[in-house]
Amino acid sequence: MVSVAEAEKVILDHRFMPRAESVLLAHAHGRVLAEQIRADRDLPPVDRATMDGIALAAEHFKKGQREFAIEGIQAAGQPQLALTSQENCYEVMTGASLPLGTDQVIPYEAIAIENKIAKIGGEVGKGMNVHARGSDARKGEILMQPGFKISPAEIALLASVGKSKVNVYKTPLAAVIATGDELVEVNHLPLPHQIRKSNSYALAAALDELGCKVECFHLIDDTAVLKEKIREILETYELVILSGGVSKGKFDFVPPVLESLGVKKLFHQISQRPGKPMWFGQSGKNTVFALPGNPVSTFMCFYRYVKPWLMAGLGCALKNQSAILATDFTFSPPLSYFLQVKTQNENGRLMAYPIGGGGSGDFANLKEVDGFLELPLEENDFKRGNVFPFHPFR
Ligand code: AMP
Ligand code: MG
Repeated sequence: MVSVAEAEKVILDHRFMPRAESVLLAHAHGRVLAEQIRADRDLPPVDRATMDGIALAAEHFKKGQREFAIEGIQAAGQPQLALTSQENCYEVMTGASLPLGTDQVIPYEAIAIENKIAKIGGEVGKGMNVHARGSDARKGEILMQPGFKISPAEIALLASVGKSKVNVYKTPLAAVIATGDELVEVNHLPLPHQIRKSNSYALAAALDELGCKVECFHLIDDTAVLKEKIREILETYELVILSGGVSKGKFDFVPPVLESLGVKKLFHQISQRPGKPMWFGQSGKNTVFALPGNPVSTFMCFYRYVKPWLMAGLGCALKNQSAILATDFTFSPPLSYFLQVKTQNENGRLMAYPIGGGGSGDFANLKEVDGFLELPLEENDFKRGNVFPFHPFR
C-alpha cells in the first residue's frame, strides 16, 4: 500500500511521450499546444486609432491649437493616408491606421465639426487613444510555448498570427474496460441482481473532455476471458482504464491477469477512501489504471490520478487548487479522505461544504458535488476555516 503522495509521484514519474499532430484551428480548442507560437508581424502592425474622432499632431494641440481643418477620412481597412499640413487633421475610425503625421486621436465626443473644421471644446483627457505599433508584441516575439492548453482566448491569438493549422499533442488512444458479471447495457432492463454499467460512460465522458479518443469494453469476471481480451486491447490502446475487479473479492481477477500479461505493477492499494484498491502499472507503450468499481471511487480516482497523469504527459501540469473547509469534519481511519464537497465563492474565498452521501457507491450524490477536498491521513479532526487541496471535476 502506498500513500496518496507516493501514488501521485509514481504516476507522474511514469508519463507518456506525446506525439504531435496538426489540427485545423477550429479543432484546436481544448487541445494542448505542441509548438512555439511567435508573432508573425508586429501586433498591432501599425499605430492604430482606438476611438472614432480626429487624428492630429499632438504637438500642435499641446501648443494650444484648437481648430483643425479636416483633410479627409481614414477608415479601418484602408491603407494609411498622410497629412499634407501638420496644422490639419483627419477624421479617423476605430481600428484604422493613424494617418502619417498624426499621433493623437481626439474623440468625437470632445469636438464639434463645422464646415470641415474640427473645433476641440470638450474634455480631452490625457490619453493619446492610439494603440502603438508592436505594443502588444514585436514581430518574432514568442507568444506561447508548448504545453499551453488552448482556450478561446488562445484561439483568438492563434488566428491573429495566421495559424490556420496548429500542432497539438496527441492524446493516447484510450480503452475503458468495465468488469463485472452484474453489469448490463444501458438500454437493458436489469434483473434485480443486475445493474446498468455507468462507470464506462462516466470515464468515456471525462476522457472525451480531455480530448481523448475512447473505446469502451465490458468483460465478465472470468480469468480466461479477461486475459484474452485484455491482451488484445493492450495491443491497440496505449491508455487502458479498468473499473472493478481489483479488490479482495473472490472474483477480483484484474491484478493477477494484468501481471500475467506482463504489465508491471507499480503499486496496488492507496491509503485513501474512497478508492483504496486502485492498481497502477505499465509495460512498453501501455499505461494501465485499474480503478475500483464503486462509481464514486472510479470517479475520484480518475480526477485525482488519471487526469493529472494525462495532462502532465501533455506538458500541461494541472494547477494546484485549494478550498476552505466550511464546517468541522471528522474522519478517524488512518486513510486520506476525499471528501465530496459543494463549493461556493464567499467574498473571494472558495468555501467547501461537505455533501453527505451513501459512501463510495452513491454516485447519485455526485450531481450535488463540485469536487473532492483532500483531507490528510495524519489528522482526524478537520476544523472549519482550514485550507485543503481541492480536486474539482466541474
Ligand atoms: P468491484 O470493484 O468490482 O468489487 O465493484 C465494486 C462495486 O462497484 C460493485 O457494487 C459493482 O457492482 C460496482 N460496479 C463495478 N463496475 C461498475 C460499473 N461499470 N458501473 C457501475 N457500477 C459498477
Ligand atoms: Mg466486480
